[in-house]
Amino acid sequence: MDVTASENIPLHDLQRRVILLVGGDDACVKDMLARGGFTQLYSVTDAAAAPHHLVNVDVIVLYASDPSAYQLCRTVHGNEAWRRIPIILLSTCAGDHDDVMHAAYAAGATDILFRPIEAAQLIPRVTSALLLKIERDLNQRRERELQDELATHRVLEARLQYLAAHDELTGLYNRRRLEQLLELAVIGVHHHQHHSALLYLDLDQFKIVNDTEGHRAGDRLLVSVADYLKRRTDDLGALARISSDDFALLVENIAEEKALEIGEMLRAAVDAFYFESGKKSYHIRASIGVAMITPQEDSTAAEILAHADQACYAAKTQGRNRVQMFRPSDKAVRSVQSDVYWAPLIRDALEHQKFRLVFQPVLDIAMGKITHYEALIRMVDEDGQLLSPAVFISVAERMGLIQEIDFWVVGSAIDWLHELPRHHAHLAVNINLSAQALQNPSLTALVKDRLRTTGVRPERITFEITETAAIANFTQTRKMVNDLRALGCRFALDDFGAGFNSYSYLKHLPVDYLKIDGTFITHLVHDPVDQTLVKSMIEIAHTLGKKTVAEFVEDAPTLDLLKQYGVDYAQGYYLGKPQLGLVEN
Ligand code: C2E
Ligand code: MG
Ligand code: MG
Repeated sequence: MDVTASENIPLHDLQRRVILLVGGDDACVKDMLARGGFTQLYSVTDAAAAPHHLVNVDVIVLYASDPSAYQLCRTVHGNEAWRRIPIILLSTCAGDHDDVMHAAYAAGATDILFRPIEAAQLIPRVTSALLLKIERDLNQRRERELQDELATHRVLEARLQYLAAHDELTGLYNRRRLEQLLELAVIGVHHHQHHSALLYLDLDQFKIVNDTEGHRAGDRLLVSVADYLKRRTDDLGALARISSDDFALLVENIAEEKALEIGEMLRAAVDAFYFESGKKSYHIRASIGVAMITPQEDSTAAEILAHADQACYAAKTQGRNRVQMFRPSDKAVRSVQSDVYWAPLIRDALEHQKFRLVFQPVLDIAMGKITHYEALIRMVDEDGQLLSPAVFISVAERMGLIQEIDFWVVGSAIDWLHELPRHHAHLAVNINLSAQALQNPSLTALVKDRLRTTGVRPERITFEITETAAIANFTQTRKMVNDLRALGCRFALDDFGAGFNSYSYLKHLPVDYLKIDGTFITHLVHDPVDQTLVKSMIEIAHTLGKKTVAEFVEDAPTLDLLKQYGVDYAQGYYLGKPQLGLVEN
């Protein structure tokens, strides 16, 4: 039932509503109403006693014989539970009507009738008051439903934020959160001119337990080690699980020898840890790498994490169950990761056409057809191997080379569409944009120009942006999105749910698609929390008129479940891996 529907309420329903007559003792009004077909008529003589009789009342017909009548109006109006009950005041006054009306409305009356009261007036006024009550009830119910809905979303959002920062299995911080804390620690080191340390801990026996005892035992081991480490490090720093059996501890304001001591303490603690599974007992050990964060160095959070990881790897190769400090002079390991190593390679790749695009199909579930391809970049290395963007995109971002890459990708992806055979003229391409590209006003000009020279329709281009890229400069991003959408291009919010404020960004960015982050999809079939979150994301996206895409669809049961939930598009290895060019089927 909606507000306008209240006009269609049958008369007999209105006639069964409860009318309370207050004050006055003449039976005349009651008779009129009874003859008008109203059946639930109750009366109270004393206006002061009326509040005791207000439960379930739909309309009050009130004789304004003395000031207590006005007091009753004020009481009803001032009370949250009664405020919705309309009051029709019957004025006994023979004086100035304007004054009486003014006083009555000021006190909270809904309507007023003057003597002589006639059925022809009274019945329609009571009917309107009843309709008003029904509308007010409806509005209140809707408001409550809305509040409930908002509360549910707030709970989900809080859960999302928690998940965004915590590892679900162990409750420790996750990698994303650790990286943020590391970034803050780097700033802190420069600001306070102190040293901090990152310890990287890898369990040596995890794989054995996991392989021989199964995943459940593996999970149990991780949870117990996490608890065990947490108890020993609570007052030292922030502990995170950053991948399956890798933990990291960030300790701020600490000297190198102390950091090594903590590493040694953790190593010894894990060495004393035995994991029981059935009749077997496993002796657990750890390799630990330590990277110092110092004001003399300009390493980024990602580099520090890589340094600690390399030191940990060195500890492993030197016989495990040991602590190893990262030394910048260990060039052999370092050069593989550094900007100095990658930057010239990226420049060379740009200059000598060593970038390639691979294309991954996106399935329109309702049509059962591939309608889009996501363009993903690769770099050809000296052996002709295709390198993943994971190894060069972040360097390119730091070295200011990403815009050039993005522009190359945009141009090449549009050219790819243009060169497709005619029977593929319906296909669309998804292009990933970095934060920097979004800040560069010449992107719009480039897109416009390429669309014009190739004749490719703008609806065939969907740009993918992430929340992190969008918040880098929200106003500028929104302008860019609006400009490109005005050309006819579409937008998708990528990796949705992985960030902190996904829902609020969704509301404020005019995107057409929402790509649910793959981490919510990979375990979907077995994880009830993921199921709830994914359902809610789909529901919210649809409420906002946006289509949903699920990435990382790796098997048929996942696709079936997503279909049930009403996801619009699916992408993932199950439907097709990224390939150079288009595979004809
Ligand atoms: P993304 O945009 O979220 O792309 C999806 C990534 O998931 C791709 O990794 C894809 O190969 C991978 N993937 C697809 N299906 C599955 C699956 O079923 N399971 C799993 N585990 N993974 C799957 P890729 O190509 O390594 O790209 C990684 C990220 O690098 C992209 O994430 C995107 O953020 C960025 N990237 C890729 N190409 C470009 C580009 O041309 N420009 C910019 N600025 N960024 C790019
Ligand atoms: Mg993408
Ligand atoms: Mg994605």
